Amino acid sequence: MPLRFDYRPYVRAFKSPLQTAHGRWAQREGILIRLEVEGRVGFGEIAPIPWFGTETLDQAEEFCAPLARRVDLSPFPVPRNLPACEFAIAAALQSLSASPYHLKLVPARVCALLPAGEAVLTAWEEPWQKGHRTFKWKIGGYPLDLELSWFEALCSRLPASARLRLDANGGLTLEESQQWLTACDGKAAIEFLEQPLPPSQLNDLMALNHPSLTPLALDESVANCDQLENHLRKGWNGIVVVKPAIAGSPHRLQALCRKYNADAVVSSAFETGVGRQAVLALAEDISPHRALGFGTGDRCWDDWDHLSGEELWERL
Ligand SMILES: [Mg+2]
Repeated sequence: MPLRFDYRPYVRAFKSPLQTAHGRWAQREGILIRLEVEGRVGFGEIAPIPWFGTETLDQAEEFCAPLARRVDLSPFPVPRNLPACEFAIAAALQSLSASPYHLKLVPARVCALLPAGEAVLTAWEEPWQKGHRTFKWKIGGYPLDLELSWFEALCSRLPASARLRLDANGGLTLEESQQWLTACDGKAAIEFLEQPLPPSQLNDLMALNHPSLTPLALDESVANCDQLENHLRKGWNGIVVVKPAIAGSPHRLQALCRKYNADAVVSSAFETGVGRQAVLALAEDISPHRALGFGTGDRCWDDWDHLSGEELWERL
């Protein structure tokens, strides 16, 4: 069946640069793809994060360029080393045959990202007023004793129904991880401690994930379907944070979560509304109960989070 592929790269600036383990991240670059077959149109979004192990934007463009404006491309073979492209193609094919998603997020379903450091002590109040009940606080960026004292103060201020996720981005030592777990012990507000150690320390992570302690979640360790499968097969039974937009095939992700009965938290890779709708559709299936890791809404100056594929395509 004649199927036409086209793509348009995009750049969008964050309102304030994000601090990542790899330095400042000031603008999100990605690619919107468009498929057309027999008058039906579908959109998908390639939103790579190279420091999470995905393809680079250049590699994604190299994949797209030879396909552009050609026909008879079905089926699309996407190499496994291009997980963001694989997700985008699958989402676009899916949207060819389905009516567009219009999934709305209520604040209670979204985990609000709080600032690192002492600012956390009051920063939870505004998102709480808006209806958020789950919060994420990044730890590991300040001296341990300081962070632990802020943590105690935060826990004493949070309302009883609030839930708190601590995300270390793999930046703690084994000893520090144990100290954090001790500090969390007995605090009902703590939902989980996320990626205390780097992915290379899987055995230590397994040992720390004790059923009687605060649950652990893996994030950086399970950035794509191959890594997720590897960890689940090795017996990881804690929580897994998945970013579908960079994980590869959504069908494979879904099948893995089902097969291993994975306790998944679905998280954003800072997509536009196009990628987000595809991610949300998946989240309904693989993570219906835990709050979604989608920050607190608009991080960019533009209004692209609220545009349909067609509308965004016309802007680029
Ligand atoms: Mg994380």
